[in-house]
Amino acid sequence: MMEQNSTETIKIRDLFFVPLFTEADIRARVQALGTALTEQFGDKNPLFVSILSGAFVFASDLIRRFEGDCEVSFVKLASYAGTQSTGAVQVVMGLEKDLHGRHVIVVEDIVDTGRTLHHFIELLQDKSPASITTVTLLRKPDAVVFPITLDHIGFDITDRFVVGYGLDYDGLGRNLPGVYQLKS
Ligand code: 5GP
Repeated sequence: MMEQNSTETIKIRDLFFVPLFTEADIRARVQALGTALTEQFGDKNPLFVSILSGAFVFASDLIRRFEGDCEVSFVKLASYAGTQSTGAVQVVMGLEKDLHGRHVIVVEDIVDTGRTLHHFIELLQDKSPASITTVTLLRKPDAVVFPITLDHIGFDITDRFVVGYGLDYDGLGRNLPGVYQLKS
């Protein structure tokens, strides 16, 4: 159940969330990221690889701010059984394309510890792409736990749970046009 009231606090299942970034905030930032990527890869036919599920909204907006030829692919990742800190990831869907010599732009919704992206980039490197560029809409402060390079970041945020713009809480909230954070 999702409820909205005049103070803009929203309720998703048992939790309350308040606005963090509006649709307009996000649109402006995504435009800037699209412009930067166009400058870098506008004539290189890059392959955008979006990590499902959370990044699908961001990716769909980002590619439409990219000017030039590009291709788009989606991957679904799953963690190997194991501890949170060491578990690698495996690709359970996608990545059928030949990445050899391609400029790959990895699109992620949010980077927390960096575990997901770190392991995914290791998998990509084995496929000999010409380059790997990472783009995340949101970065939490713990992003240094795993060694990753984030080339483009939409917003740095505090370490609080967020929903909206593709991100969910227990399956709900992905369709919110803005990003909301857990109310303190
Ligand atoms: P990492 O592997 O970097 O620790 O975590 C990244 C993944 O954790 C994201 O792709 C996302 O699925 C999930 N995640 C981390 N923080 C949040 C959050 O605040 N909200 C939601 N909905 N998912 C999060």
